[in-house]
Amino acid sequence: MATKFSKAGERVSINEDDFDGVNQVLAGKSRWQDFISPNVAPALKKYPGHTFNIVSAQVFGQTGGLDSETMAFTDKVNAKIVFVEIFKGEAQTMVFAALHEMVHWVSHPTDQGKRITAWGALGDGLGEGLTQVITEDIFDGQGIAQYYKPVYADRASIVRKLIERFDISPFGEALFKGRPQALQPLLDTYGSGLQKIKGLASANNSKEAIGVIDDLNRAFDAKPKKGAPPKSR
Ligand SMILES: [Zn+2]
Repeated sequence: MATKFSKAGERVSINEDDFDGVNQVLAGKSRWQDFISPNVAPALKKYPGHTFNIVSAQVFGQTGGLDSETMAFTDKVNAKIVFVEIFKGEAQTMVFAALHEMVHWVSHPTDQGKRITAWGALGDGLGEGLTQVITEDIFDGQGIAQYYKPVYADRASIVRKLIERFDISPFGEALFKGRPQALQPLLDTYGSGLQKIKGLASANNSKEAIGVIDDLNRAFDAKPKKGAPPKSR
């Protein structure tokens, strides 16, 4: 039977019940559910096996990639996820790390074989920030206590700032439906400033990024809108 989790910091092992439990959380209630749930079955069909692959630090070191704050590596090109064990010899990770990687797994393309479609548009900074925001929103949506230690905190706070203005739809469309063009409202608002925001997100500089976003929001809102009648004197 699928494991029920009440805390994001609970341990996850290599048994099937834990794998099923994390995937039930993934597909369960959250504000992202309409975007995520159609992707779960096709993505799981492409998942190798029915357990989490949790390896020693030595083996993990040979995988050549790292999702640094979750101690894991999702390789959609070669269709695999690898976790490094949190304690030597125990083959365990934690719920928050497992769920974060599964959000990558159900991101478009669900067939794997390619990197995440929206990654080029988002960059590492906004991409990891968005993935983490979704992970935390899923825990919130199901009353699962967050992990005590913030994960990708700067990147997530930048994405939350953007969601405040644009809502979740452009991000859900881009990440889960493979429609990066849904991010157009961000380009319309920020222009070349979006590159700067992406760079600051990758540099984990939320303070400066949020300042830039505030300035560009104000500048955009002060501009006369297309189609609006010219201001009379
Ligand atoms: Zn990640």
